[in-house]
Amino acid sequence: MGCNPVRVSSGNHQQNETTSIIKVPNVKVANAWPHWRGDCRRQMELFNSETVGGIPRLLEESSELDSDPQIIPHGTKPNRALHQTVFVNRNLKLESIKCFGFDMDYTLAMYKSPDFESMGFELIRDRLVSVGYPHELVRYKYDPSFPTRGLVFDTNYGNLLKVDSNGNVLLCSHGFNFLPREAIKDYYPNEFIQRGNIDRFYTLNTLFNLSETYLYACLVGFFTRAKRYTNQLTGFQHGDLFMSFRTIFHDVRDAMDHIHETGILKERTLKNLDKFVIKDPRIPILLSRIREVAKVFLATNSDYGYTEAMMKYLLENDTKPGRPQKNWRSFFDLIVVDTRKPLFFAEGTLLRQVNTDNGMLHIGTYTGDLQHGSVYSGGSSDIIIDLLDMKGEDILYVGDHIFGDILKSKKRQGWKTFLVVPELIDELKVWKDKRDLFEELKHLDIYLAELYKHLDSGSTERPDISFIQTRVKVVTHKMDSSYRQMGSLLRSGCRQTLFANQLMRYADLYSSSCMNLLHYPFSYLFMAPPVLMPHECLVKPQGDSPAVQIALTNYIRKSCSDKTSEQSRTEGSEE
Ligand SMILES: [Mg+2]
Repeated sequence: MGCNPVRVSSGNHQQNETTSIIKVPNVKVANAWPHWRGDCRRQMELFNSETVGGIPRLLEESSELDSDPQIIPHGTKPNRALHQTVFVNRNLKLESIKCFGFDMDYTLAMYKSPDFESMGFELIRDRLVSVGYPHELVRYKYDPSFPTRGLVFDTNYGNLLKVDSNGNVLLCSHGFNFLPREAIKDYYPNEFIQRGNIDRFYTLNTLFNLSETYLYACLVGFFTRAKRYTNQLTGFQHGDLFMSFRTIFHDVRDAMDHIHETGILKERTLKNLDKFVIKDPRIPILLSRIREVAKVFLATNSDYGYTEAMMKYLLENDTKPGRPQKNWRSFFDLIVVDTRKPLFFAEGTLLRQVNTDNGMLHIGTYTGDLQHGSVYSGGSSDIIIDLLDMKGEDILYVGDHIFGDILKSKKRQGWKTFLVVPELIDELKVWKDKRDLFEELKHLDIYLAELYKHLDSGSTERPDISFIQTRVKVVTHKMDSSYRQMGSLLRSGCRQTLFANQLMRYADLYSSSCMNLLHYPFSYLFMAPPVLMPHECLVKPQGDSPAVQIALTNYIRKSCSDKTSEQSRTEGSEE
């Protein structure tokens, strides 16, 4: 959102727009919030350019940077495509970051979709069959067009729900059957769930949960349709056997634990890394560049054996002749495995040193200083801060898990946060292609507001809004189905999802990949677009807006000219 000139909050689109082009002599500002950086001369360059921060160009330009990391030299002009942009929720001065922390899975190690999710799906499906679930289930294949991350599974009624941050239901499916509003109200009066009831409502937050999400739909769909089972409100009856949705949920969770604990998922992944993991040649480049200006650490929930194999694959094996082979561990100042996030950001566990020769843990708790190239197991974020000799505000932590990586590190430690959202590439594509639908929704909202605007306390008029509401539903459905069957990760029509809300609250920065940091200098100031509250939007600015712009332009010009004169004087006196 940092470079997106439109910031929309639900129900108030008209007022929150900040896209207007304001013209003053010699100044064309595409977004009222220029990205200041560098010295004064650079600021003027930006201010007088057609595109402040390159914003209008983003939609047209495609970049070659993805194809060859070697052509991202320092000092290239900013020509980031939209999918290469780092978006900003809160201002962040990259220069003040002294330490960059990285999660591994789905952050540095990006899994290939849908191959990886398909493998996970088949492993849990087959595990369920092996413990007694009907053999017909093996007919189900993973369908990436169905699930969306961040859905909630209702263990009482077996529904998959998309909700907003307050627990209002935006979308609901029972198996593969999408429920109309009336049916949703039968299950959830007020179309609302008590999200805090975590015994009942389970949020499927991570990318690892995608295969599980699809499996819930398959299981509910299968039992609903299978004639030998009788549908009941909280499960299925088969003779003397009652299969509740809660039982199904626990069985799936157990199967998930099984494939993780037995190591079968890791084993299959490591056996065929080319198939399941994106070997991005930019990873060593990014880490090396960061290490020129800051410390770097890796904090992963994976064990040492898996981490080593993955990192070797991603950071070693440089086949280009004449290049010295670097050990993967040399890219980091500190490596911590078995972190058990989110526990890591609270009381944590014992910190132990890993014997890198055999992967065994040293006995006892490690209490010494940081040893470069050493690998540790467990610990906590407090211990890591001490070992690295940092403060919470010095750290930018990059991860893909909205709860385990981002929410906890922000709330418990005050770290700066960068959320990796791989879905953003598709989200941006649909947003761009289907922008007309959103514009229509906005206009419907405006029209709706206009119908009520002139009413005062004595009015008895009741505007007929049913035709607008019907159209809103139709357009929302069209927009949702442009993403995938369960819609967008971030919104349903005009309303934002729980995931979107958490992203905006807890992630300072977000992007489709952490590799997009390569498109910014380390002196960069990430600026969030200003967002007005509804009461502030209704108050029109006093005075002439262009006059304010002219005054601002003159101020900047004067500052630049003063600075240039001062530099000349200094250079002159040095000579
Ligand atoms: Mg991860």
